[in-house]
This record gives sequence, C-alpha cells and structure tokens, in this order.
Amino acid sequence: MTARIIDGKALAARVQAGVARRVAALQTRGVTPGLAVVLVGDDAASAIYVRNKVRACESAGLRSLFVHLPESTSRASLLARVAELNADPAVHGILVQLPLPRHLDASEIVDAIAFEKDVDGLLPANAGLTLMGRPQFRSCTPYGVMMMLESIRYPVRGCHAVVIGRSNMVGKPMAMLLLAANATVTMCHSATRDLGSITRQADVLVAAAGRHNLITAEMVKPGAVVIDVGTNRTPEGKLAGDVDFAGVRVVAGWISPVPGGVGPMTVAMLLVNTTEAAERSIGASPPRSPLLAENGPATADASP
Ligand code: NAD
Repeated sequence: MTARIIDGKALAARVQAGVARRVAALQTRGVTPGLAVVLVGDDAASAIYVRNKVRACESAGLRSLFVHLPESTSRASLLARVAELNADPAVHGILVQLPLPRHLDASEIVDAIAFEKDVDGLLPANAGLTLMGRPQFRSCTPYGVMMMLESIRYPVRGCHAVVIGRSNMVGKPMAMLLLAANATVTMCHSATRDLGSITRQADVLVAAAGRHNLITAEMVKPGAVVIDVGTNRTPEGKLAGDVDFAGVRVVAGWISPVPGGVGPMTVAMLLVNTTEAAERSIGASPPRSPLLAENGPATADASP
C-alpha cells in the first residue's frame, strides 16, 4: 500500500479562499478583520512564522498589524501594549508569538489577551470551553488537523485516535477536538511505556512530540491516517516531522508531509479564527465548518 497524501498546502489555499469570501462579506458591512501579531525579540524561527502569518492575512484580505518589540521589552510595557490591542476596535485577534524571551512569563502575557480576541485559543477560558465540547476559539494547529480529517471525509466517529504529545497548545486540545468528534482517544507522552503497542492500535495517529523519526513503519496500523505535526531540523538543517515519511508511507492509508502538511493549515486556521472573531463582533454567525460550503456536513459534535 502507498498512502495517499493529505496536501496541507492545497487545503490551506481552499480554506483561505473561503476566508477571503467571508472577509469580502464583512467588508460590505464596514468591517475588515484585523489580526495583531506581537513578536518580542529577534528569534529567527519566530520571525519566519510571523512573516508567514502576516503574508497570509494580506492575501486573504485581512488587516494585519505587526508589533515588533525589542528583546529587552519589560513585562509592564508588553502588558500595556496588549491592553492597547485589547481596546483597539480594528483588532479582532491578538497573537503573541511564543516563545517569549526568558524574562517574560508567557502565561501571564497570554492571559492578558481579551477572551474575544484570543484567536490562538490559549486562554484558560478558551481551553476550558474546548474541554467542555463547546469551543469558542479552537487552537489553530489541532483545528487544522480536524480540517485535514474532514477534507478526506474520514469517519472520525468511533475510530481510535492516538495523540502523541500533551502540550496545552497542541496535544491536549487535539485530544479534546477528536473526543468531541466522537473518537475514542488515547494520549501518549514522554512517560508513555511501549509507545508502539499503542500507536499500532490507532486508526488516526497524530504525532506532536517534536522528535524526528519517532514514528516508524512498524508502529503504524496498515491503512491508518497519520498526521505529522512535528517540526524538527535534521542534522543537515532540513525541516522534518516526527514521522519517518518514506517508511510509514508504505503502511499508512493517508499521510501528511512535513513541510506542506499541518504547518500551512495552522496559519489558515488562524485566519479562520480571526474572521470568526470579526463576525462575532458584529453579531454574525460563523459557518459551522470553514469547509462546509464545498465539502458537505462538518464532523458532528459529541453526544454526552
Ligand atoms: P512541546 O515540547 O510543548 O510538547 C511535546 C510533547 O511531546 C510533550 O507533551 C511530551 O510529553 C511529548 N513527547 C516528547 N517526547 C516524546 C516521546 N519520545 N514519546 C512520546 N511523547 C513524547 O511541543 P508542542 O508545542 O506540543 O509541539 C510539538 C511539535 O509540534 C514540535 O515539533 C513543534 O515544533 C510542532 N508544532 C508544529 C506546528 C505546526 O504548525 N506545524 C504548530 C505547533 C507545534
């Protein structure tokens, strides 16, 4: 078997085209969704991520405000800048690019973002709503993974989904979104024993550990959907995921590549969340799925 590829780049383009249509509709009502991206310092990888987000905003018709602050920015002045953005009616979404310099407490800064502008879904209130199965803003990366499953019309209901990684930004919300879509979910992490015995049971395997080639062919059930969230640098400096792509491709039914998989979807879902925030700001209801118009019904919400 050779797995079919889930092309995150192509899917992100479809999602962004949908966003562009929603932005055009909002503009007829005098609203342009605005995203503020705050970068503190000059971390090279962060600068690339921020640039991609700002460019994606511009191509979908959103307004972007890039707030670049020096590495030495104090806690007080960063909190004051976030408060200004909270109060700015042209800003519908605020993203503070992580990691922050060591002297700043990321939790404190993120917690200062207004609930209705938390387009990364990182506030405890948003994480809690996701946990309760009624998300306001879904964390962008797991939301992108759900769109990838929806795009291949994968029947998530009743499947066994295994998530590797338990971070607040990826692993935990990923597990909650899969649970809300009625998967039976197992979470694995750095203390999990015999990882392969669990991953081999997965109908859907989401790898988000940040360990290059952690998932090899013998750890994958034949025909499984394998979604690779990991972004790692190989010794040669190339971008690579957590999955041994060449080996796993022979076993899996579907596989997402790195690059060109989850990464572009994360950016696309940030635009979706910002557009949703703008829609809510004028009392308009966002569609139930960013793919709904072209892709039939969205994944059902969980029953109790
Ligand atoms: P993190 O370091 O916060 O969490 C990693 C998780 O993996 C931890 O919960 C840890 O317990 C688990 N883990 C580590 N080694 C493991 C092992 N050997 N076996 C099982 N579990 C193990 O990282 P994160 O922020 O959740 O990100 C995870 C990966 O996803 C990173 O490579 C990151 O760069 C990538 N990422 C990609 C995108 C994207 O858009 N493509 C977005 C966010 C994160």
